[in-house]
Amino acid sequence: MVDAKTKVVGLIGHPVEHSFSPIMHNAAFKDKGLNYIYVAFDVLPENLKYVIDGAKALGIVGFNVTIPHKIEIMKYLDEIDEDAQLIGAVNTIKIEDGKAIGYNTDGIGARKALEEEIGKVKGKNIVIYGAGGAARAVAFELAKDNNIIIANRTVEKAEKLAKEIAEKLNKKFGEEVKFSGLDVDLNGIDIIINATPIGMYPNVDAEPIVKAENMREDMVVMDLVYNPLETVLLKEAKKVNAKTVNGLGMLIYQGAVAFKIWTGVEPNIDVMKNAIIDVIKK
Ligand code: NAP
Repeated sequence: MVDAKTKVVGLIGHPVEHSFSPIMHNAAFKDKGLNYIYVAFDVLPENLKYVIDGAKALGIVGFNVTIPHKIEIMKYLDEIDEDAQLIGAVNTIKIEDGKAIGYNTDGIGARKALEEEIGKVKGKNIVIYGAGGAARAVAFELAKDNNIIIANRTVEKAEKLAKEIAEKLNKKFGEEVKFSGLDVDLNGIDIIINATPIGMYPNVDAEPIVKAENMREDMVVMDLVYNPLETVLLKEAKKVNAKTVNGLGMLIYQGAVAFKIWTGVEPNIDVMKNAIIDVIKK
């Protein structure tokens, strides 16, 4: 029940009406008996400058931030945590004692999703396809303790991101952090991650970024795309019995980490997952 004590958390983005986050978080608040509500705010770019002061005035607890505001919002924040600074984007904000603090939970969300399926991810050889926002967050997180190759259609973007990661994380460029085009050699690769939109609804029959003939049974294949849950890439992986990880885990865990930041409470992962599966399947 929404009453005079209800605390407000929101999503800011443009557009926001297709987001699954309100469904996932409101289910988790209810499950934990927390008097919070999560609402989606469609914020036009020209209005972004009013958001943080307005939220402070209204006593809003925090936000998720989505496209196109993840970078631009940073200049209105009082503090930015280390991971968000590395990634160069914020997807979660908490407002506490009049201060707005920015976080990025996408990278750690992806790690938790992977580790839930395959255990500790450390010392692995990982190829990340894509060099956009999602690839950045995942690559910065996994490059901390793994060797990574950024493989992108526009090779210059892969090179730029790989160089930036090596520099900021103090890794050896060309050894611990490499770049490539999409024709990357998968010999010796343990994990491949699709961070491009290939296979996303409605283009569910698109050409997969890697075909079964280039996969091995001992590989882990992760797709960040979560609609559909079984993408064309994961279908290929199943042909060779490779372990698959769909994009739902990252979506849930980035949300779960944000939930903990706002409330101090660990949410029930299954409640969040089931709330989303219900709507994806409709
Ligand atoms: P983005 O910033 O627009 O980046 C897209 C990347 O994909 C670019 O590197 C682009 O390459 C590449 N790409 C796009 N179309 C391609 C094609 N037809 N062939 C080859 N490469 C292509 O997007 P993003 O925000 O990183 O999101 C990427 C995907 O990740 C989304 O579609 C979404 O499904 C997924 N995602 C999932 C979660 C989750 O929680 N599970 C979170 C965020 C995103 P160029 O540089 O050559 O253009």
